[in-house]
Amino acid sequence: TITAAHYLPTLLPTLDWISDPLRVGRLSQDFAWFSPVLKRELAGKRADIAVRPRTEDEIRQVVAACASAGIPITVRGSGTGNYGQCTPLQGGVILDLSGYNAFGWVRGGVGRAQAGIRLGDFDAQARPLGQELRWLPSTYRSATLGGLFGGGFGGAGSINHGPLAAPGNVLAVRAMTVEAEPQVIELRGAEAMLLHHTYGTNGIVLELEVALTPAMEWTECIATFDAFDAALEFADRFASAPGLEKKEVCFLAAPIPAYFTSLAEYLPAGCHAVLLLVAPHSEAGMRDMVARHGGQVSYRKTAEEVKAGNKTLVEYTWNHTTLHALKVDKGLTYIQSGFDPKRKLEQVKALEAALGGEVMMHLEFLRTKEGALNCSGLQIIRYTTEERLNQIMQIHRDHGVQINNPHVYIVEDGKQNNLDPAVVQTKQRFDPLGLLNPGKLRSWEAMQPLRQSA
Ligand code: FAD
Repeated sequence: TITAAHYLPTLLPTLDWISDPLRVGRLSQDFAWFSPVLKRELAGKRADIAVRPRTEDEIRQVVAACASAGIPITVRGSGTGNYGQCTPLQGGVILDLSGYNAFGWVRGGVGRAQAGIRLGDFDAQARPLGQELRWLPSTYRSATLGGLFGGGFGGAGSINHGPLAAPGNVLAVRAMTVEAEPQVIELRGAEAMLLHHTYGTNGIVLELEVALTPAMEWTECIATFDAFDAALEFADRFASAPGLEKKEVCFLAAPIPAYFTSLAEYLPAGCHAVLLLVAPHSEAGMRDMVARHGGQVSYRKTAEEVKAGNKTLVEYTWNHTTLHALKVDKGLTYIQSGFDPKRKLEQVKALEAALGGEVMMHLEFLRTKEGALNCSGLQIIRYTTEERLNQIMQIHRDHGVQINNPHVYIVEDGKQNNLDPAVVQTKQRFDPLGLLNPGKLRSWEAMQPLRQSA
């Protein structure tokens, strides 16, 4: 079907349009296929056309044309999101911002860049200036700063700085409204965070200003253990040890390490593993702690070796763990969960006892938004049916564990319906016509009949 979106290249012929159906189809997808439920529900959802603007003026031209003609706009960074976040439900234009990617500046402990910059590029440019990003999702090579803000959570470094949402991590955003005459507005502090993790539904982020941390040459290690409890207790003690500097603590219960075929020589059969990024001066203390818990360090690479080999353990942590497992066994899926900081180990052990075998324990140690040491689960599941998947999530809730369901595509459903009403007010300000990623923000959609009758 020909829609108004198909006429946009005639209107704006100098822009970089993508209309080849195969390419538009690919740009309409992310990694929602990790979920058998989303794979089914989002099948066939796609944009009519995509565009890759390089300047603010080009973005403005597209936005003005879409606002005038009522064409939906779905912003895309690199499309590494997990919940169909950049999959349009109602066609329209994919606004691919990966080419809007200039590095701005680093001043003291603060950095600024255009939204489409890849996180790996940002980090590489900040390091010679003595700073690094506070959180590196395992997709940092391809994922963009705007995409992390629009749809992500955190990553390596969250053990020190918490998730992006922790106050002080993201300092400001410069965003564009969707109107026939688009406005550009800078939001700072808590106001900026109203656009965080809203799947590009309430504003087009052009630039981000983020707090950084002094750069460190991280050593990468794997510690292996025969016993689940010993590995878990080591991970927890090391994560909380205030004198031992680290960037990543990832606990993987057996049989997850066996899915890492490219690390097989370092992972004895049946082992439980803890993947670590540790400061060089903290390595000896880390090794003492591993030995005291009956483990061994089976893998060690200095930052220099990591760089030379172009292989980092970061790409085995967070949702890359799931990706490696899926490469070996397509019958797997996963869940996301948040434990109770006060009784996390007790909860982990109880769930391992209740569901071990069907649910494989993967924990990322981190600080909560409030600063408590906690772990967040990215458990791998042997998928049977949707009903059983829901039961597994309920069993977690029954143990007092919070589930951040990765099998849903509505913003509120991923946040247990805890949506700040100010997010919807921000949408009213930045997207009064409701054209941004329509269908994803339920609270806004629910208001529409009221708005129309008013
Ligand atoms: P996209 O997928 O392109 O976009 C994500 C959302 O943000 C979409 O809704 C999009 O509309 C919106 N958006 C993008 N740019 C803008 C903008 N400029 N303005 C407004 N809205 C915008 N996430 C983590 O947090 N930590 C991890 O460690 C992690 N590991 C992952 C591992 C794997 C293997 C996979 C597949 C995913 C992982 N993710 C992780 C999820 C995802 O990679 C990150 O959230 C990533 O930062 C998204 O960036 P992107 O550029 O690919 O965003």
